[in-house]
Amino acid sequence: MSLKRALLARIVQTGPMTLADYMADCLTHPSLGYYTTRDPLGAKGDFTTAPEISQMFGELIGLALAQAWLDQGAPAPFTLAELGPGRGTLMADILRATRRVPGFHAGMRLHLVEASEPLREKQRAALAGLGLTHHADVATLPDAPLFLVANEFFDALPIRQFVRTAGGWRERLVGAEAGALVFGLGGPAQPEPLAHRGEVAEGRLVEICPALAPIMAEIAARIARHGGAALVIDYGDWRSLGDTLQAVRGHTPQDPLAQPGEADLTAHVDFEALVRAAPGLAASAMTPQGVFLERLGIVQRAQTLATRLTGPALAAHIAAHRRLTHGSEMGTLFKVIAVVQKGAPMLPGLEP
Ligand code: SAH
Repeated sequence: MSLKRALLARIVQTGPMTLADYMADCLTHPSLGYYTTRDPLGAKGDFTTAPEISQMFGELIGLALAQAWLDQGAPAPFTLAELGPGRGTLMADILRATRRVPGFHAGMRLHLVEASEPLREKQRAALAGLGLTHHADVATLPDAPLFLVANEFFDALPIRQFVRTAGGWRERLVGAEAGALVFGLGGPAQPEPLAHRGEVAEGRLVEICPALAPIMAEIAARIARHGGAALVIDYGDWRSLGDTLQAVRGHTPQDPLAQPGEADLTAHVDFEALVRAAPGLAASAMTPQGVFLERLGIVQRAQTLATRLTGPALAAHIAAHRRLTHGSEMGTLFKVIAVVQKGAPMLPGLEP
């Protein structure tokens, strides 16, 4: 049975479902989910990401994490973790760039949080021989110093949407009509995570990501106890406002309800929610990706790599640099934030 038919049957039986339940089934249903059944990345897939665009992204992030580790006294052993590592490209670039940092590779224990079996396989291949451990959930990460990166992970987590009406909040739900999935509004609701959003005007829509805070809390607890740093890169902004749910298939936007399980579904990340979920830690300013990469020296790195390139390879390299940093591409849409123990040095590129 297709996921669409299964969802329609379920809605007929038990009524409309929250967008979060819909997204969770679309993305990670055990046998029919989007991530469960494929590797969606790359030119032939549905979307591409910064580490797949250029090696410079992972190299600079690797050096920033290694510097944070040195600044904290090079604790060993320590956990080097990634959430949603895709094809393993970012981690492979991090590891190549940090090879010469004394003690970093000897002290690290590699832990990857990944829901997709096809992608776990790609990660094992990309990181062969490094003794990595896969997790389904952050809760099983070791209780140890934690240096963690998450690029385009939080945008893949299911969200709920609430509309401010004259009578208070009402949830946007997924229902069924004439054999199609359709959006509708549920009854009055008082979602606790929106208690601080009294400023939202009537008619506006706000998103919450229920899984975000528990994940951040697990990460923050380890950093608070043992030190470390968490670096989150994603599209989004401070304090969610408006409908940011999007479906993409073959690099083309789709109706999010049209092809459940066949299109990637994402929503912008609310960076305020990330910081609110780690109240015991110090957070950097939310910083545009382009600014972050430029502070870390992407211009110099790009020039060095360019000296070895000619023709189409050089043109592709220049285009990739622009794509990662330019304001009209990923440079400002994508934001970066880091959290560390209070009083610890902030990650390079994110200092106040
Ligand atoms: N970070 C990679 C891939 C981003 S795509 C890159 O930048 O290229 C999102 C990644 O998160 C994929 O690896 C996907 O399988 C994983 N993922 C999505 N939802 C997840 C979940 N609930 N738990 C664990 N991993 C998840």
